[in-house]
Amino acid sequence: MIKLKTLKTALGNEIVFWGEKKIAPQHVLFLIGGFHGDEVEGPYLLERFIDLCKSRECFSNYDIYVIPCLNPDGMMLHQRENANNIDLNRNYPTSDFQKESFNPHTGKSSSGSPCSEIETQWLMGLIEAYRPKQVLSIHSDLQVVDFDGPAEEWAKQIAILTGYPLVHNVGYSTPGSFGTWAGKEHHIPVVTLEVEKASTNDELNKLWDKMIPLFESFL
Ligand SMILES: [Zn+2]
Repeated sequence: MIKLKTLKTALGNEIVFWGEKKIAPQHVLFLIGGFHGDEVEGPYLLERFIDLCKSRECFSNYDIYVIPCLNPDGMMLHQRENANNIDLNRNYPTSDFQKESFNPHTGKSSSGSPCSEIETQWLMGLIEAYRPKQVLSIHSDLQVVDFDGPAEEWAKQIAILTGYPLVHNVGYSTPGSFGTWAGKEHHIPVVTLEVEKASTNDELNKLWDKMIPLFESFL
């Protein structure tokens, strides 16, 4: 697995798009972490997964592409939003777009204007160029499996592999979300995996161990 593309952010960080250079494309799978900068778990798990892919020869039925952290500026600032204080998972040009949305930690976040953020534009461009057949987006810390678009069967499998319950929404409205744009409006199966909170190295390690069956299912 190699770095295929990068994007420089407002604060000079790099968003990396990892994958394999394939001659005959197979079933394209996208794995995305770090929409929210205060959720370190997704980026940690996906970096571990990249290391796993590099450490052995993989004969996967998938063409796997990974964006471990879509919001490195938010991660640097220890905040949910990007450097412009926009929630990147509410910035998609969907029919239900709203300028503001619920933030489970602070109450309210700005959504900017539809696809105003370079992180959003970049991911939309990658989805259009690579046309994934499935997308897994990793968040924390609701400990549920949610889905958008034609993804119910896959979501059920992920619920079994992770031990988290399958739900039909996360309990609050998510206007302008990536899942609504890609899943509901572009009919790409999108599963949103909400893992448990893990802060210390020990907790992150344990979370990786718990998620190994999920990641093995891609290889
Ligand atoms: Zn999140």
